Amino acid sequence: MLFPSPISKFTFKNFDFLIKRDDLISEEFSGNKARKFYYYFEYLKQNPQIKKIISYGSNQSNAMYSLSVLAKLFNIELTYYVNHLPQYLITNPIGNYKYTLLNGAEIIENSEMVEKLKNNSIIFDKNTIFIKEGGAVKEAEFGIKMLVDELKEYENYSVFLPSGTGVTALFLQKHFTGRVYTCSSVGDDDYLVKQWQELEINSDFYPTIIPKHKKFHFGKLYKENYEIWLELKNSGIEFDLLYDPIGWQVVMNNLDVLGRNIIYIHQGGLKGNESMIQRYERKLRIDN
Ligand SMILES: *Cc1c(COP(=O)(O)O)cnc(C)c1O
Repeated sequence: MLFPSPISKFTFKNFDFLIKRDDLISEEFSGNKARKFYYYFEYLKQNPQIKKIISYGSNQSNAMYSLSVLAKLFNIELTYYVNHLPQYLITNPIGNYKYTLLNGAEIIENSEMVEKLKNNSIIFDKNTIFIKEGGAVKEAEFGIKMLVDELKEYENYSVFLPSGTGVTALFLQKHFTGRVYTCSSVGDDDYLVKQWQELEINSDFYPTIIPKHKKFHFGKLYKENYEIWLELKNSGIEFDLLYDPIGWQVVMNNLDVLGRNIIYIHQGGLKGNESMIQRYERKLRIDN
């Protein structure tokens, strides 16, 4: 794994940014999931009695794929529960779903089980570790603190990253002395604050939320999201298609808030683009 990850210069629409390239940590285990799950990487090294990881979430989740890499690395099982598995995906596997299966993981449709896991009402044996959806766990702090250590020279910069569960942004701000800015993409801004309150009572550690100019439904396709993604790609860096198009719109609409020195955290997720690109191509063909 490539630690520290590189920091590259990036010019977009005539503005200069620095990009923290966590997408380059490694081919397989990269992005913010590598940071969030780094604790488990160390834990599994020291605990060979662990034979299984259990988690749950969406059937195209970046976290699911990263956990499958981890399980494969340590030659243990991953059982991942989803609410819904469309027949179309089963017969035409693509993206994170496909690569998770190729890593030997088991993906099971069982919404009752998902509900129980969400409510923490399952007791696991001592050879199993359970990881909440998206890695929204306090253990994530360990690896994100390492990311902050790599940003030491940039304390006069505004750090920006789009949030899902908000956990990466939270632990970044907790340890970073400069300002961390984020926006919501799953749920609204209140959801983010609720997530933070579950993991950290001291609100001094909460990142600054920049409101979005419009509401986006997570995972839905928006022409403007695809367009900014393509412009970013043509400017030299491929970002993810779920979170980053929202993040970059927020950045470009709020350059006055963020100031001159901005460092944008590239949180990986490129494996997931395969299925998103397919969906966008289908949509854009129909719309045009
Ligand atoms: C998971 C993920 C996020 C969201 O991270 P949170 O810690 O849940 O806020 C953002 N970008 C990418 C590419 C991701 O894979």
